[in-house]
Formats: sequence, C-alpha cells, structure tokens
Amino acid sequence: MSNPNTQGWSVAPAWRIDRPSHLKQLSENKRCHTAIIGGGITGLAAAFRLAQSGKSVVVLEAARLGEGSTGWCAGILSKDTTVELSILESAFGYDKAKFIANQLVDLLKSHQLLLGQDCDWQSGNSICLGAKARHRKSFIEEVETLNKFDSPAQFLEKNEIPKSLTGFSSAFQMGNEHAVHPVKLLVSFVKQIESYGGEVFEKTPVDSWQYAGGQFIVNVGPHQVIANNLICSQGMKASSSSELEHFRRLLIPANGHIFVTKPTEKDLSQSCINFWDSLQLYHYGRYLPDGRILVGGMDAPGLVPNTPLPADNSQISKLYQWAQEHHAFELPVIEHAWRASLTVPFDGMPVLAARQLTSNNTLITAVTDGIPSALMLGQAILELVDKQKSELHSLFSHERRLSLAGKVLSKVPSKTFAGKFVHNAAFAALALWDALP
Ligand SMILES: Cc1cc2nc3c(=O)[nH]c(=O)nc-3n(C[C@H](O)[C@H](O)[C@H](O)COP(=O)(O)OP(=O)(O)OC[C@H]3O[C@@H](n4cnc5c(N)ncnc54)[C@H](O)[C@@H]3O)c2cc1C
Repeated sequence: MSNPNTQGWSVAPAWRIDRPSHLKQLSENKRCHTAIIGGGITGLAAAFRLAQSGKSVVVLEAARLGEGSTGWCAGILSKDTTVELSILESAFGYDKAKFIANQLVDLLKSHQLLLGQDCDWQSGNSICLGAKARHRKSFIEEVETLNKFDSPAQFLEKNEIPKSLTGFSSAFQMGNEHAVHPVKLLVSFVKQIESYGGEVFEKTPVDSWQYAGGQFIVNVGPHQVIANNLICSQGMKASSSSELEHFRRLLIPANGHIFVTKPTEKDLSQSCINFWDSLQLYHYGRYLPDGRILVGGMDAPGLVPNTPLPADNSQISKLYQWAQEHHAFELPVIEHAWRASLTVPFDGMPVLAARQLTSNNTLITAVTDGIPSALMLGQAILELVDKQKSELHSLFSHERRLSLAGKVLSKVPSKTFAGKFVHNAAFAALALWDALP
C-alpha cells in the first residue's frame, strides 16, 4: 500500500476532513484576557471554557490544528484509562477520588451534548480482555472498585465475551464509555470558541514570551499578543517549560502505532465501541461509526515524528497479526497506518503548574495524558483564572502525592542517559509483566 497523499494536511490520514480553506494567521498586535500557546486538545478545551465564561481568548497554534498528538490519536475517551480509581483512592481518600470521577463523567456528558453531533461522538461499552488466571482476579477487583464509585462495570466470563473477539478467557465491561473523531473535535471547539468571540490562529508559532509591567507579552514574528494570563499547552514541547521543573522527570516521551482498516459489513459497535488487551502492552481496538476498525499498540519509549506508514511496515504488520488473532472473522485490509508520539505523565494524571503573579496575572502550564484529562484541565484552568483556586488543581499540581515508583523516577533527570535508561527499563518491565503467567 502506498502512503496516502498528505500534502498540505499533516494530521493522520484516517482523520482527514475537508476544512475551510481560509487559514487565520496573526497579522496584527492583539490584547486579550488570556493568551494560549498550543491549539491541541489541552489549549482548545481551556480556551473554550474561558471564552464561554466571557473572557477574551487568543489561541496561537504553530502548525495547523491537529498536527500535534491530538490529531494522530485513537480518539478513545475512556474513563478507565484516565483515572485509576484505586490509586486515586489510596493517594487522596475516597471522597476526593469520587470527586474526580464525578467531574470526569459530568464533563464528558456536557461536552457530548454540546459538541457530539459535529465530531462523530460514540457512546457505549468498552471491554478490557485478558487470557491469564491473574487477569480474572484483577478484573473482579477492578469491577468492585468501579462499582464502589458508581461506575457501571460488569465482569464477563469466557462465554459472555462477544463472539467476534477470540483468545481471551475473562473480561470486564464498562458502560458510559466514549470515542470521537479527534480532528473534528478540535474543529468543533474552534467553532464554539469563535462563537464566544475568541480567536484561534494557525501557522502562528510563538517565538518567546515575557512577563513585564503586570502583563504577558507573547512574541509571534513581528507581532505581539498582550494578555493578563498565559497558558502554555504545547503538548510534547511543553515539557521543556521551566514551570514544569518539578514534573519534568515524570513526563515520559512515548510513541505508538495505529492502523485503520477498510469498512466491514459487521455491526461490531453493538457489543463494544472499543477494547483493550491486558496481555499486550497498550494494545487496543476501536470500532468506528462507519464500520472501519482502528487498532493501536506497539508502543515504545521516545519521541518520533508523527508520520503515515505503509501497511507492510513491520510494526504495523505485527499489530495486524495480533488483531487478526483476536477476531473470529477475517479483518478487512488496512486503509491507513501511522505512528505518533505523546508525552505521558508517569502517574497517569494530568500535570498543571500555576504561578499566581498578581491577582490579575496567572501563568499556567498544562500537560494532559489524554482527551478526557484535557477536559478536566480546562475546568481547572477556568477556576484558577477566575477564582485563583481549584480543587482539581491541587490534585494535578506538585502537591499531589506520588507513588513510590513516581518518587524514584522523579530523582532521575529525563534528558540524561540515565533518564532514557529508566524510561526504557520501565517499558521493558511492563512487557515482562505481560509475559508472566
Ligand atoms: C498513538 C497515540 C494514540 C493515542 N490515543 C489516545 C486515545 O485514544 N485517547 C486519548 O484520550 N488520548 C490518546 N492519546 C494521547 C493524546 O493524543 C494526547 O494526550 C493529547 O492529544 C495531548 O494533547 P495536547 O493538546 O496536550 O498536545 P498536542 O495535541 O500535541 O497539542 C500541542 C500543540 O501545541 C503546538 N505548539 C507547540 N509549540 C508551539 C509554539 N511555540 N507556538 C504555538 N504552538 C505550539 C503544537 O503544534 C501542537 O498542535 C494518544 C496519543 C498517541 C500518540
């Protein structure tokens, strides 16, 4: 299969959509309440919440929308991979863990109502699958935890697993799970932001910024954006921000592979909209609304450029083989394949660093671990800018309690040889754990 033509459009080919041909680039100086650097899901979710509450916002995106991690991701909005309830409970207690879980459910619901029609929003069940004896035990425990937090979940015996999925001996199913077309989601956010008077500029890279005279001055070529507040949400590039000193060592650069098949006649999304294989490090699948099947996995440490891949790429071939082994029917051929990078906060929680310079000036740096967390960051950022305090912020900031592994990792500088070694060792340890009986 030859590479799809991506000229003039750098987002993952499977997510390509016709977009308005006009491109809004910054061509004059601007003054606003909040300037936002980076137009991925983190920046746009925050811009939307601020614009909705009456603040003037200007988003500055270096490339075209979707060229960062968001436009190349799988679009699965899973509560389960966003919040580890048992870890949250042991770190913060039941009430706070429940507070986060509720916030997440409410935010997903409200965004679905507002944006769902425009971004192929799917809702349904998600299934986590396993083939080993230890999976059965951990799935039963997971279901108990989820139910304790009023999250719909059910353990599935082998004979209850959908017949289309093979090679697993136990599973659990979660309800109220979601998925979207990630680029359409970004475009829907822009429409909303603009409807509230906010502005989003593409192909507008920020060169530098400084804080002087009670305001932020953001430099873009010959122009400046002057703002009371500044939000840095540059995705993988945000990790170099000095505001993230405390977290930098926890931000693990990683990359993963995805392919999307041609449509199948089978109506698979009736049984589940996406599934996870607990046996394989981050292997998952998604049944898209148009019948195509998306499969992701073969994750590895390190950042690589987001790029389309041919179907005979060895990693994509392995992923296809894995997906075929676990389906009871012949998978359709691959239509698109790609590889993309992201930054994963080590403890699976988004990162939010905020510096209150005066009661009118706040500097915020935000890194998400996925789309649902970005919605929570949007909420926390609104509260910080509006009221200078946010309960979510205290959970996502340096005040958060780290696991022992997180504490160890935080001692190792990530950019050094030792840091790379630790990241590689962490991936290897997970792979080894998968291989255990
Ligand atoms: C293969 C893969 C699969 C994934 N699957 C899922 C999934 O199914 N569900 C899920 O929830 N998450 C998934 N993720 C994770 C998710 O994609 C990311 O966590 C999320 O998109 C990060 O969003 P962001 O806005 O922080 O970063 P980005 O989307 O990378 O946005 C940051 C933006 O900042 C811009 N920028 C950088 N520097 C500047 C500058 N100087 N000036 C102006 N702009 C700048 C960049 O161009 C970029 O557009 C996946 C990631 C990958 C790689």
